[in-house]
Amino acid sequence: MSSPFEPPDYYLLDDVLTEEEKLIRKSVRDFVDARVIPIIASCFREERFPAELVPEIAAMGLLGANIDGYGCAGLGNVAYGLVLQELERGDSGLRSFVSVQGALVMSAIHELGSEEQKERWLPRLARGELIGCFGLTEPDFGSNPGGLQTQARRDGKHYVLAGNKMWITNGSIADLAVVWAKESGRIAGFVVEKGTPGYSTSLQKGKWSLRASVTSELHLQDCRVPAENRLPKAEGLKAALSCLNHARAGIAWGALGGAMACYSEALQYAKTRIQFGKPIAGFQLVQAKLADMLTEITKGQLLAHRLAVLRDQGKARPEVVSLAKRNNVAMALEVARSARDILGANGITDEYCVGRHMANLESVKTYEGTHDIHTLILGQDITGIAAFT
Ligand SMILES: Cc1cc2nc3c(=O)[nH]c(=O)nc-3n(C[C@H](O)[C@H](O)[C@H](O)COP(=O)(O)OP(=O)(O)OC[C@H]3O[C@@H](n4cnc5c(N)ncnc54)[C@H](O)[C@@H]3O)c2cc1C
Repeated sequence: MSSPFEPPDYYLLDDVLTEEEKLIRKSVRDFVDARVIPIIASCFREERFPAELVPEIAAMGLLGANIDGYGCAGLGNVAYGLVLQELERGDSGLRSFVSVQGALVMSAIHELGSEEQKERWLPRLARGELIGCFGLTEPDFGSNPGGLQTQARRDGKHYVLAGNKMWITNGSIADLAVVWAKESGRIAGFVVEKGTPGYSTSLQKGKWSLRASVTSELHLQDCRVPAENRLPKAEGLKAALSCLNHARAGIAWGALGGAMACYSEALQYAKTRIQFGKPIAGFQLVQAKLADMLTEITKGQLLAHRLAVLRDQGKARPEVVSLAKRNNVAMALEVARSARDILGANGITDEYCVGRHMANLESVKTYEGTHDIHTLILGQDITGIAAFT
């Protein structure tokens, strides 16, 4: 059976956290221990998002937690990162829910919406009364969202939207969708509310990753959206990508949570699993794996912390965020694979968390810009030469 979480903090990062940050982390950690860990394996098995936890997550102030005003908690980015780290320690699906709601949907409305739109939607999204999703990806346009084909056409007091979105987290449970479409060839953002004629969703089933998360297609068939639902500042691809930037920074923290869970489990398992008459933790090859895992987690923790400080100071360029997302997710995936290996056959069962995290992190590596797309972003930043096409 899986053992209690023992979070690694080799470089004493706790010493630089404020009391408030530690308190917030503790409350989310306790919540995950009490409410997520006992049910998450069966949610994953049943391919079910634990929607019953949303009111508790909202009551803790975790939705849009780093936004100021509109009923949001206004946390700094370190505290916000710690929240996501702890949630993903439970499951990437839960962290994905919070990231999409806060960093994609609420941030889009907060930064690209009118004052009226903010007042209308943000407080209810923060209270979890409304659930949001973010529709950018299409069946034929993933890494290259600039090519998206969903169309928007003005018709009197409405926009008429036509197209399909795919791989949309929260899609089928969402009350509103931030949808990106092209209006006269230029990308624009719209809020499409559930019940709008011509708008429907379908659940994407059969995933072996992020099974405790809702992933859906959005269908827009001449969907008539009131003109006042157009986000006035959501113009051009840059606007859409600016939302992704917030989510990517959070993912750099979230992935740490998955990695720390796997490390903790593997270490405790290695100390108690006896082979050849002694604990496997006593073999050099196992120690090498643990040493590598701890080293990489520690580097990831320092990176995430510094990223959050830079974000608080307004100094984190998108490329700086890319570096952290790319590194920490790849690191977490490697840690999960090593941990799975240390657990031997037990590592492939859902009695332990390592296999679930490993499978989840494959999605996390792909969404919010694939690992390789972030490599190209960094390559362009380093050399000044774009290698995307
Ligand atoms: C579980 C899950 C949830 C998601 N949630 C959302 C969501 O809420 N909203 C949303 O809009 N999207 C969401 N996505 C979609 C996600 O953002 C896309 O999957 C991602 O952008 C990659 O697009 P793709 O899957 O079409 O892969 P592709 O773009 O087809 O890429 C396939 C492979 O080709 C590589 N590749 C592509 N272009 C290049 C290039 N120029 N040079 C080198 N290699 C290249 C990629 O790195 C990748 O390895 C989600 C995806 C998943 C799996």
